[in-house]
Amino acid sequence: MSEYDEQYVVQISGLHKSFGSLEVLRGIDLDIKPGEVVCVIGPSGSGKSTLLRCVNLLEQPTRGDIIVEGFLLTHPDANLDLARRQIGMVFQQFNLFGHMTVLDNVTIAQRKVLGRSESDAKKIALEQLDKVGVAEKANQYPSKLSGGQQQRVAIARALAMGPTLMLFDEPTSALDPELVGDVLTVMRSLADDGMTMMVVTHEMAFARDVADRVVFMDGGVIVEEGPPRSVLEEPQEQRTRTFLRRVL
Ligand code: ADP
Ligand code: MG
Repeated sequence: MSEYDEQYVVQISGLHKSFGSLEVLRGIDLDIKPGEVVCVIGPSGSGKSTLLRCVNLLEQPTRGDIIVEGFLLTHPDANLDLARRQIGMVFQQFNLFGHMTVLDNVTIAQRKVLGRSESDAKKIALEQLDKVGVAEKANQYPSKLSGGQQQRVAIARALAMGPTLMLFDEPTSALDPELVGDVLTVMRSLADDGMTMMVVTHEMAFARDVADRVVFMDGGVIVEEGPPRSVLEEPQEQRTRTFLRRVL
């Protein structure tokens, strides 16, 4: 079993995940330091979403260990609710509650999960909505917002819980091209503020400019990783080169 090492926010070791006979993750080792931004790239079906979903235990790993902020998530007795509070996740589809206002979307988990008072939750929600540039939409319903605004609300909702780690799974892939920039700008400023982030993305310019490390996955393994300049501009592995030729 892995030892907790305080210098890391996330420690993933020997992670395997199968769905029936399909082995999707085949031994992932990845440690992430506080404030580090790790962009995960790779072809469709390579296991990127499954990796993120294992990190906040939306999927149960088949084998291996995941430690987040000292919580051994893969321990049978782990307090998953407590551990999950440390982790914010933003999906490709924004998953806002359509029958609730923006403000209610951002306060409900603060109240139900963290037990914050209505006034505290509202204050924090408005601060976070302001940070992502949609405070003026607080009393609207999500359907009145553009996709980019909805995704920024989803980011504010995650941040309002005070996570130490943010997971993003292709946060801009469902957006019209002209709306992608605003979401990336918010993510960039979050990175500048020192948030620890794992970002699955096809936005190679974002990966190049914002990531501290780029991880290239294929077939359920990490094929290559390193600083963006090495992985994106001087890839050592043929599989990485083939992938980059297709997307760049
Ligand atoms: P990526 O995000 O890199 O496109 P995924 O992690 O979504 O890859 O999927 C990797 C593989 O696992 C795919 O073959 C996919 O069909 C399969 N898979 C993902 N989730 C499930 C599931 N819940 N049940 C069965 N197969 C799954
Ligand atoms: Mg995916």
